Amino acid sequence: MTNELLRKIPKVDDILKHKDWKRLVGEYSEDTAKDALRECLDELRLDIKEGRTASVPLISDIIGAAQKRVALITAPRLKRVINGTGIIIHTNLGRSLLAQKAIDAIVGAASHYTNLEYDLKKGTRGDRYEHCTYILKRLTGAESALVVNNNAGAAFLILNTLAEGKEAIISRGELVEIGGSFRIPDVMKKSGAILREVGTTNRTYIEDYERAITENTGLLMKVHTSNFRIRGFAHEVDVGEITTLGRKHNIPTYYDAGSGLFYPIGDGDGLDEPLVKRELVKGLDVISFSGDKLLGAPQAGIILGEKQCIDMMRKNPMTRALRPDRFTLAGLESTLLLYLDMEDARREIPTLSMIFQDEGLLKRKAQRIAAAVRKRCGNLSVSVAAVHSEVGGGSLPDVVIPSFAVALKPEAISVERLEERLRSLDVPIIGRIERERLIIDMRTILRNDEPFLVSGIEIALKG
Ligand SMILES: *Cc1c(COP(=O)(O)O)cnc(C)c1O
Repeated sequence: MTNELLRKIPKVDDILKHKDWKRLVGEYSEDTAKDALRECLDELRLDIKEGRTASVPLISDIIGAAQKRVALITAPRLKRVINGTGIIIHTNLGRSLLAQKAIDAIVGAASHYTNLEYDLKKGTRGDRYEHCTYILKRLTGAESALVVNNNAGAAFLILNTLAEGKEAIISRGELVEIGGSFRIPDVMKKSGAILREVGTTNRTYIEDYERAITENTGLLMKVHTSNFRIRGFAHEVDVGEITTLGRKHNIPTYYDAGSGLFYPIGDGDGLDEPLVKRELVKGLDVISFSGDKLLGAPQAGIILGEKQCIDMMRKNPMTRALRPDRFTLAGLESTLLLYLDMEDARREIPTLSMIFQDEGLLKRKAQRIAAAVRKRCGNLSVSVAAVHSEVGGGSLPDVVIPSFAVALKPEAISVERLEERLRSLDVPIIGRIERERLIIDMRTILRNDEPFLVSGIEIALKG
């Protein structure tokens, strides 16, 4: 029986003569299509041998299966999704979206040659870091700047350059884990700096730092506790106290500020996210932060500070291993240029504009989408719900922003099933389940997401 079935499997030569096959290879690469066909036939043979199937499909069905497989093979795995979580800097969904000017600059750097490392005045080799350095200095008052791949890389480079083989003093309350198993103590160890923890989890004073200083101290370090806050019986040392101490003992000081805020977001609102410029004037030797968190730029690690320190870092061979590509530099520079006018920044940088989105507009967006969904879909109850968005990206952990969502309660399937189906769409929709409803927060829904959102919900309900 099994052997008989196996013999009945169409010959590859016959399949390749079929009209459907001609259509398939008109659309996809022939080699890839043949690979897919072979894989489908192997699978069929295995199914027959192991008794999972008792019949041999028609040639057109085999080609149909091969076609599905080719489509899967040739589709990018990294794809657009619709962020319905309301978390603006969602690390798992790619963090900050970019301003149109930054996108244009990246496309430009990809499509044309640039003066990336070419000095147009002298006609000689130039420096890829110069482009961003100019605007970073202007915006922050820093003496010098260096851009690397990300802030973890920046922290590594700073520790390795300034404190390799020496002690770096840090408060116990700031030995942070950022997520994705990035832990400050682990980076310190890899950098060759010796971790010297002082104070306690909740309380650290400048005297704790001072008592720990020896002739082997290489660095006084502070880390912004980005993704958590210690409240209550707590005391942390201010950057200003650390820089005063550093100067007294002639020891460099470094602040890992995490997010890299340039826009005075929390002024008067009690939002405790450090403003880069304000921290820098306290006399730090170096500060570092991410490009793709609150700054709203591409992924990057930005290092600002004293020219002498930055020059040392530039000479560190590790800098080459951490260097950013031209897309990063183009996107970062264009984003930074927007900060020359804070109103431009707030309007054009999506991370900022999403934070400041008007609640009334969000409510209207939710009403518009809810109405469209109601019109297209049956067996579903749709409502507009008041919810809370988060900034995300380890920024402002205890701040929630009032927002509006579309809440879906399917009638024929479970809400878990709906959530799963929305995730497996061609343009997946990521929401969250709250009190038996699927919540899609409008704060992170873009204008051009709307048609995909509505049709996606319709497709997911049909199954
Ligand atoms: C996010 C963060 C980092 C890591 O930054 P990446 O750019 O993601 O590498 C390091 N330190 C602090 C305090 C952070 O908040």
